[in-house]
Amino acid sequence: MPKSYITHLECSITGRADYKAGAVHGLSKAGRPLLARYDLDALKKDADRDEIWARSGGFWKWRELLPVQKDENVIALGEASTPILPCPKTAVLVGHEGELMVKDEGRLPTASFKARGLGVAVSMAKELGLTRLAMPTNGNAGSALAAYASRAGMETFIFCPEETPLINVTETSLQGGKIWRVNGMIDDCGKIVAAGKESMGWFDLSTLKEPYRLEGKKTLGLELAAQYDWELPDVIFFPTGGGTAVVGMWKAFNEMEALGWIGPKRPKMIVVQSSGCAPLARAYDAGEKHATRWENAATLASGIRVPQAVGDFIVLDIARASGGRVVAVDDDELMELWGESSRLEGMLLCPEGAAALLALKNGAHEGWIAPDDKVLVVNSGNGLKYEMPDTAGALDILKPIDFEGLT
Ligand SMILES: *Cc1c(COP(=O)(O)O)cnc(C)c1O
Repeated sequence: MPKSYITHLECSITGRADYKAGAVHGLSKAGRPLLARYDLDALKKDADRDEIWARSGGFWKWRELLPVQKDENVIALGEASTPILPCPKTAVLVGHEGELMVKDEGRLPTASFKARGLGVAVSMAKELGLTRLAMPTNGNAGSALAAYASRAGMETFIFCPEETPLINVTETSLQGGKIWRVNGMIDDCGKIVAAGKESMGWFDLSTLKEPYRLEGKKTLGLELAAQYDWELPDVIFFPTGGGTAVVGMWKAFNEMEALGWIGPKRPKMIVVQSSGCAPLARAYDAGEKHATRWENAATLASGIRVPQAVGDFIVLDIARASGGRVVAVDDDELMELWGESSRLEGMLLCPEGAAALLALKNGAHEGWIAPDDKVLVVNSGNGLKYEMPDTAGALDILKPIDFEGLT
């Protein structure tokens, strides 16, 4: 396979660039996320975007723009590029007159887009000789970590809030993760990971606290650009908790522009939170650079129940710089729209995906989405992972069946 063009890493707040590739890194010396940098000038000469896109291997096809150096360290679980589906009926449902596409990230290994970040982070951990990994999770990151790490022969310690969906907890333990429910939020779980570091000797894979999950998430942006024939959509809606996906997509767009793969046009990035946990939306409305912790966070869209995020300032910057915004949507309304859109289009979103769709509905009604905007909503995971309303009827085979009554 082609080689990685990684050169070094850089602090996201100070720009300090003396962090070596091929070494174990957590946060920068300033306590902020590190960003991997690549020799894009060389890659521009050497690589052809369409040749790369034509490769197989899902997100692993972008090897030049990923940090893993050696083929034998790539941990693969049959990744495929996820489909982008036109959803005209859903567009009518939410009152958007223009194009609506949904990118279904529920098709990845372990059925959420977390596979992108953890596939790459676990492969890097292997390359760097790490054998014991730990992480806080709201569910989907835990199962992705467990699956990739077990395949790589590594040990994992995973901590999740009590109210994490049961399926996330069980899929994680069944795939080899040692998982604990904690009577706190995901940031409380993160504190346990930090506190146990020394005595347990584990490596902390928390979102943006190590640099390589972001590189994996970046492939979402690379992939969708290719699927849009290198002309990005006008608006992207993404359900956001820690923010790695938004930061990753944005990094992909910037790298692709430097490579001459896309032009300067950027989508408006709509960062979507739940009104039950909306620290970024609150900071955005107040014009703040950083967000403060959201107390008593509660939402059924568990993937976005993140009271405080270490990369908050990067997400806020991106929403502003792109001409987008950070919005919060109502939980009851999103559960209703979850059901309505699934019935209508035969596509089972996850509640987080439904939150993104609800933000589009609000944007169309409030007029900040134009009727001719080409909109992409990212469905971040598979709806089957969540508790669903049971609306089936029952039939008794010992009695005559009233077929007319079935309609
Ligand atoms: C983790 C997660 C999110 C939020 O992603 P971030 O990159 O942390 O903002 C959204 N939806 C689902 C289903 C998730 O698992």
